[in-house]
Amino acid sequence: MKLLVVGAGLFGATVARERALKGDSVDVIEKREHLAGNIYTEDIEGIQVHRYGAHIFHTSNQKVWEYINQFATFNRYTNEVIANYRGEIYNLPFNMNTFNKMWGVITPEEAEKKIDEQRAAMAGKKPENLEEQAISLVGTDIYRKLIKDYTAKQWGREPKELPAFIIRRLPVRFTYDNNYFNDLYQGIPVGGYTQIVEKMLDVPNINVELNTDFLENKQDYLNRYDKVIYTGMIDQFFDYQLGTLEYRSLRFDTEVLDTDNFQGNAVVNYTDSETPFTRIIEHKHFEFGKGNRGKTVITHEYPANWTKGDEPYYPVNNSENNHLFTQYRELATQETPQVAFGGRLGLYRYYNMDQVITAALQFLQGNFFDAKRNE
Ligand code: FAD
Ligand code: UDP
Repeated sequence: MKLLVVGAGLFGATVARERALKGDSVDVIEKREHLAGNIYTEDIEGIQVHRYGAHIFHTSNQKVWEYINQFATFNRYTNEVIANYRGEIYNLPFNMNTFNKMWGVITPEEAEKKIDEQRAAMAGKKPENLEEQAISLVGTDIYRKLIKDYTAKQWGREPKELPAFIIRRLPVRFTYDNNYFNDLYQGIPVGGYTQIVEKMLDVPNINVELNTDFLENKQDYLNRYDKVIYTGMIDQFFDYQLGTLEYRSLRFDTEVLDTDNFQGNAVVNYTDSETPFTRIIEHKHFEFGKGNRGKTVITHEYPANWTKGDEPYYPVNNSENNHLFTQYRELATQETPQVAFGGRLGLYRYYNMDQVITAALQFLQGNFFDAKRNE
């Protein structure tokens, strides 16, 4: 079978590799000038810099962990995030260290009591948006200092207008444990993420072309290949004919500094409304300070509205957008059955890396490649 994979991110690379190992001839095209999509990392001053935002691999899925470990050795990095609210420093995610700093409480019982008092503002109501969910999880003080303004900056809309599930991504713990994730496995690949995708695509019957946009020769590609796996934006693929899905974008401002240690942690969130960026990443701390002496690389991350042509980093999964997405799926089934949509943009989902690998491996088990069934 002659396959075209559009996009050399993690989804495209997994599908390309596994099909090529089964004997298919696979062409991969990528519009950027590099492999790896948003997990791309590059060496600056001996430091692996995450060009598209901090990427920490974490999963509870042993199969996925073993899969990714074929391509890199992972270090024991555990994400422990610091929040800076107008110069006050708190630990994230919300745990006994946060509660102690916020209220002086020492025991889990005292912390639960404090949150219970503040939760009274909810009067037993079932949380229906991010604000209500946050207050019912951690109370009004933490909501006000660590969540409200950060969330408004990140999403460009008030927490009241956002779905509750976004804040449930963060653990709330009544232990002194600063680990940002609950997963069984976690780490950063020694030597960065780009090598992972390079190794994944290093199979004899895979041919990769960078700087190549599918949409510039759409019909020609559709004619030339038996099957296409498309990991770009599904609405753009159909020239936005049913309407435009909303995305959130980001601007990354990266600089090299002549100092060994700028902020003492990989990730520091700025949770007030006055600071225009959401966080500063100091990349060397993902690999325990490795890098050239007297140098560090930091990135300020600014949330941005998305308009056509910008990088679409986050799908905005509210009900209107999800509904529009299902209409695009329907259109795809009818008009282009030889094209499968995958990955964060193709499926319009807030996928982490491990979920992308899981989704790709599941997709490979399905019947899309069974030509007879698709005829
Ligand atoms: P992408 O990486 O977006 O790859 C799609 C590729 O398709 C791109 O390279 C794009 O250029 C290409 N493409 C699109 N259209 C075309 C076209 N028309 N022609 C040719 N090529 C095209 N996950 C975690 O597990 N841990 C984290 O800590 C984490 N942090 C994140 C931080 C940020 C700021 C963001 C935005 C995401 C983060 N993620 C994290 C999620 C992670 O980035 C994604 O799960 C993963 O990169 C998705 O892979 P993908 O292949 O679906 O998409
Ligand atoms: N969040 C917050 N304050 C913080 C960090 C996160 O209010 O300091 C909220 C915010 O709404 C964010 C959500 O929690 O979108 C999920 O956080 P996570 O770090 O998982 O977001 P990501 O950057 O991965 O999208």
